[in-house]
Amino acid sequence: MRIDVMGVGFDSLTMDEAVDRALELMRERRAAYVVTPNPEIVMQCRADPETMAAVRQADLVLPDGIGVVYGAGILGTPLKGKLPGIDFAARLFQALARDGGRVFLLGAKPGVAEEAGRRLEAQYPGLVIAGARDGYFQDDAPVIEAINAAAPDLLLVCLGAPKQELWMQRNAPRLRVGLMAGLGGSLDIFAGTARRAPQGFQRLGLEWLYRLGKEPWRIGRMMKLPQFLGAAIHEKIRSN
Ligand code: UDP
Repeated sequence: MRIDVMGVGFDSLTMDEAVDRALELMRERRAAYVVTPNPEIVMQCRADPETMAAVRQADLVLPDGIGVVYGAGILGTPLKGKLPGIDFAARLFQALARDGGRVFLLGAKPGVAEEAGRRLEAQYPGLVIAGARDGYFQDDAPVIEAINAAAPDLLLVCLGAPKQELWMQRNAPRLRVGLMAGLGGSLDIFAGTARRAPQGFQRLGLEWLYRLGKEPWRIGRMMKLPQFLGAAIHEKIRSN
């Protein structure tokens, strides 16, 4: 059963439970997909029915940031905790590395996915990077052909939201992969072209503040967070 946070249903799982479920889905090999919405994407879903449908059809919906966890708390239906997409991916790499699992990296600027692949293979001995491709393509067909030829267990789709959610929903029927996960800017972090917030910020749920300091032009997008919390408070008051 999913927990409704402003119209988007989230799976309330611990990290261990989410990883177990993902590995199960991977074994089914039906190109199931995982999405990790933050408050900004929830607000996009509320404004755009196509994005909402792509998120709802996902096989796993994990709360990426602390904002969604606060929103669920305000609404009186708490989630077990935040599950940052990047930590989730790291746990999947660990599990896949144990028996030579195959990963395909799709997204980010030219060269970034390849560099991320080199670093991940060094960091997780046993992991096979079966392919890498940038996220600035016009035509899906050759990309799908390359992915299917590589037959990965895990496909990371890092095209930013909502592009990656729409891409996974649209192409799932044509893809021969175990599982897909839409993970925004994580290839930039794996490649070392962007840095994640230090642990102190992560523990305090302030990754967004660190990111705002580094990328101040994101302020417009980040204003979705107070809007989201305001809407959650409004909904709670209305339902009482
Ligand atoms: N990106 C891409 N293709 C596009 C648009 C964006 O591959 O057409 C990549 C971009 O280079 C970056 C990631 O998608 O690596 C989006 O990162 P962002 O941090 O904006 O992710 P979000 O916050 O949207 O999850």
